[in-house]
Amino acid sequence: MKTKKPNAELIWKQLEDQLAPQLRLSVIDRTVYAHLLRHSRLEGNLRHRFSILGMARSIRVSTGPAREAVRRLAAHGALRMVQRSKAGHVVEVRLPDEIRGVRLKPIESRPAAKEQRTCAPAPVNLEEADFFQTKPLREAIHARERGQCFYCLRSTAPSVRCLDHVVPQARLGRNSYRNLVSSCMECNTQKGETAAADFLRRLYRERRLTATELAARLRALDALTSGKLRPSLAT
Ligand SMILES: [Zn+2]
Repeated sequence: MKTKKPNAELIWKQLEDQLAPQLRLSVIDRTVYAHLLRHSRLEGNLRHRFSILGMARSIRVSTGPAREAVRRLAAHGALRMVQRSKAGHVVEVRLPDEIRGVRLKPIESRPAAKEQRTCAPAPVNLEEADFFQTKPLREAIHARERGQCFYCLRSTAPSVRCLDHVVPQARLGRNSYRNLVSSCMECNTQKGETAAADFLRRLYRERRLTATELAARLRALDALTSGKLRPSLAT
């Protein structure tokens, strides 16, 4: 006999907060009820066939107390005995709100808005953020450069771009937005330990940047290190 699967969270709270105290369920009663409920209603079945011995073993109690608990639960109306035989028992398991004589008050739940507030990520402190740490932060640096290599100004497809440390990590360069730029793989490899300004001048000598572009890149470098090129963070 299939039934709709109930709201397990609600049932758990009803059992813990109201059913157990109202019916004065012992620890074993509660465990037996939870076990039978889990294997019947939480699987979408009204009835459950089991043997006292098998259930007692599974919840690690002796058969005597397990049998007593089943009797008590049936007396409370939490179970309805359908069949009792040597081969096993068949019971119908009642949900907390189906048990006669049990008065359930609505369970108070935290307002959704409050929950959302507490779950929302903390705002990022721009100056202290490690921009290598998460994908959104790495993407924020790439977005700031608008798909261009910070050094050679070539457009960089997402698959061939990387984050480059202006002051190399080997020289204690930080993962700050003031020290990370989006660059093409080639510039990232060629720059190596070279200072960023020297690398830009090398690009000019190799005619990969014009004089105007070089001047603009050097200004951008100053703006970067003085914190004027802030990535925008969606918070
Ligand atoms: Zn480049």
